[in-house]
This record gives sequence, C-alpha cells and structure tokens, in this order.
Amino acid sequence: MHFELTEDQAMLAEAARRMSDEVLTPILLAEPADQPLSKPVMLRIYAHLAEFGVTAARLAEPAGGSGLSMLDYGLIMEQLPPVIALSLLSHDGSTVRFEAGASEALKAEYLAEFIAGRRIVCTANSEPNAGSDSNAISTRLEIEGDRAFITGTKMWITNASICDCMVVSCSAGKDAAGRPMPRRVLVDLAKSTVGLRETALCGLRQGHLCEVTFERTEVPVENLIGEAGDAGKFMTIVWNANRPLIGLMTLAIARRAYEVAREHASQRRQFGGVIAGKQLVQQDLSDMEAAMVSARLTCLYALGQLDAGARSNGLSAMAKRLATDAATRVIDRAMQICGGMGITEELGLAQLWQDARVFQVPDGTQGILALIHGRDITGTAAWR
Ligand SMILES: Cc1cc2nc3c(=O)[nH]c(=O)nc-3n(C[C@H](O)[C@H](O)[C@H](O)COP(=O)(O)OP(=O)(O)OC[C@H]3O[C@@H](n4cnc5c(N)ncnc54)[C@H](O)[C@@H]3O)c2cc1C
Repeated sequence: MHFELTEDQAMLAEAARRMSDEVLTPILLAEPADQPLSKPVMLRIYAHLAEFGVTAARLAEPAGGSGLSMLDYGLIMEQLPPVIALSLLSHDGSTVRFEAGASEALKAEYLAEFIAGRRIVCTANSEPNAGSDSNAISTRLEIEGDRAFITGTKMWITNASICDCMVVSCSAGKDAAGRPMPRRVLVDLAKSTVGLRETALCGLRQGHLCEVTFERTEVPVENLIGEAGDAGKFMTIVWNANRPLIGLMTLAIARRAYEVAREHASQRRQFGGVIAGKQLVQQDLSDMEAAMVSARLTCLYALGQLDAGARSNGLSAMAKRLATDAATRVIDRAMQICGGMGITEELGLAQLWQDARVFQVPDGTQGILALIHGRDITGTAAWR
C-alpha cells in the first residue's frame, strides 16, 4: 500500500494547480463574482481544459478521450476552481453518456467537438417531480416516422444556458413489470428549440443551473441514444465516479477556509498571546485537519476502487457524504476561529461555506447517499 503520489501524479497535480492559478482563476476574477459566466468566457475556459486533456477525461483513449484513471482525474479536479470543476464534471460525464450508445453518424458529428471543448454538452435528467427519485421522470418522448418530439420540464441542469447540446432523459413508457424505461436523446440547441431559465443559487454564482422546457421539441430519430430503459444505468455509472470527485472539489474549498483560519489564529492576539496558542483553538484546528484528511483519503480510495473495477456504489456515496459534510463543518469552524472577521464579506468565508454547501445536493443528497451506502451494507434498498 502506497500513500505517496507517483512522480507522474505529482507532476499532473502541479500542472493542474498552475493552470488553475495562472490561467483559470484570473479569468474568473476578471468577471462579476455573482453572475453566471458568459458563453464566450466558458468557451475560453474549455479551450484551456481541452489543451490540458480533461474535457473527455474519463472517456477511453480508443474512443478519443484521455482515458485518465479516476484517481488522476481526482488529483486534477481538486486543483480546479470549483465552479469550473462542476461544469467540467457535467460536460465530461455527458460526453460519456453520449458516447455509450450514440450511433456512429451521431458520434462523427459531435464527439470530436465535445472532446475539443468547442461544443459544451450537459445532462438533463432532474425534473420538478423527479429529483432524488431520478427514475420518476415524465418528460415525454413521442416518435413519429423519422422525427421524435420531447415534451416536459427539466430542473437544476448544470451548464444548460451555455451548452450546445443536451443529453436528455425522456420517458419511453414502462416495461412489462411496470418499471420506467428512460431513454437518452441528444438535443442540439442549434437545431431544436428549448426554453431556458437560469436559477440563481447562493453559491458557485458564476456557474449555470437552469430550468429547461421542451414544448414538443423536435429532433431527428437518429438522435436517440442507446436503448429504451438504459438511461438510468448510464446516469449511475457517471454518478458513481462523480461523487468522490465532488467530495474532493468540496474539500478543496474547505482547505482554503482552513488556511484562512490558521493564518488568522497565528496573528490574532487575545489574553496576552496569539489565539493559535490557546488549547481550544488548537483542538478546533486539529478536528478540522482530521476531518479533511480522512475524507480526502476516503474519496481517493473510492476513486482507486473504481479504477480497480470494484463495485463501489456504497463507497462512492459514503465518500461524497463524508467529504461534503466535513467541508461545511470545517468552514463553519474556520468562521468561528476568525470571530467577527469570520462573518464579514471581506474575509469571504461565508461565500466559501455557501459554495461548499451547494455540493451537498447534486448527484445525490446527503440522505440519498446514506441510503445508497445503507443498501450496500444491508442488502436492502430503503427508498422503495
Ligand atoms: C448544483 C446542482 C447541480 C445539478 N446538476 C444537475 C444536472 O446537471 N442534471 C440533472 O439532471 N440534475 C442536476 N441537479 C439536480 C440534482 O440531481 C437534484 O437536485 C437532486 O437529485 C435532489 O433532487 P431535489 O432537489 O428534487 O430534492 P428532493 O428529491 O425533493 O429531496 C429533498 C430532500 O428529501 C430527501 N429525500 C428524498 N427522498 C428520500 C427518501 N426516500 N428517503 C429519505 N430522504 C429522502 C433528500 O435527501 C433531500 O434532503 C443539480 C442540482 C444542483 C443543486
């Protein structure tokens, strides 16, 4: 068992850190902090991500992707600005969902564009009445000759307002046992009409989260992907990998708050000495470090298990829940260590808390993650 990064991994993480610090963060700082980034800005960001080789990070090399190990991908993700990492997670995961089942003609038209980051793709599954119960989608798919029509509403769709294409989960009826048969359909926004409404969030405010409406949106039947009933499987495959990645992204936010608190504690003097020298402040810092290190190792372990081909639904869910819980608690303690300064806008810790808090919802809420883990532990699914 090795806990050291290999030389290649250390170089990869360092290169990602440099791209983040020297290229991506300056782009973000030049834009309003509380507004979704424009599409031209996102395309600039994607050009850098493509050059770095992460726009199709987990797509296998024979399919044109980078074929990165999930562990290596995690080491990169924790270096990226979180708002960019979330967008990338959607794009890269959607590329996987597209590639697995799209016709050769469809791939010829779109795949190289997604890989190059010239066209951004997202996944639209959640609906007003289908959140945690992701199979309960009701967006209707009707096929008439060589055309297909989509009718329904999607909610909380990352990247939707800056994307070129969406992989939309549609209801294609029920199987003989009465189970829903969701089907993937590619919608090209240059060729089909959809309604888009941005949803403002309390965190990651330069990001994009949209409601998307389809009013008999027309697409060619060639845009149907895979088989009726297989959409859920490809949602889960991507979610299993996304969860520890989101954990690492959230912990990176917590680490920033921790560093602010540590620095503050080493400067701030009360009762005749720096507060870093007071026992309870040291205990707080120790608890924070312990929570971050243990959660990060769990996320990396979950990614390593995915690379090893192990079934890791429960482990991935556990890793995300542990990490996103730890992160918000760490940031809360960081705010407390900074006293009055901790709740000022000047120090920015409250915004970090809000950014981290966002990650407790996508790709499985804390409750649902506990149930996925619980199912692996007990063999019984508690949500049915
Ligand atoms: C930042 C962000 C990005 C997102 N990106 C996308 C995207 O790109 N594409 C997409 O399709 N969706 C996306 N989503 C949607 C996301 O997947 C859903 O928000 C999530 O699945 C939760 O659904 P919900 O919000 O409807 O909450 P609900 O399902 O209504 O859950 C509300 C609460 O009830 C609890 N709960 C629900 N069912 C049970 C149960 N059986 N037992 C115990 N507790 C339960 C949950 O844990 C939660 O605390 C995104 C969401 C966010 C916040």
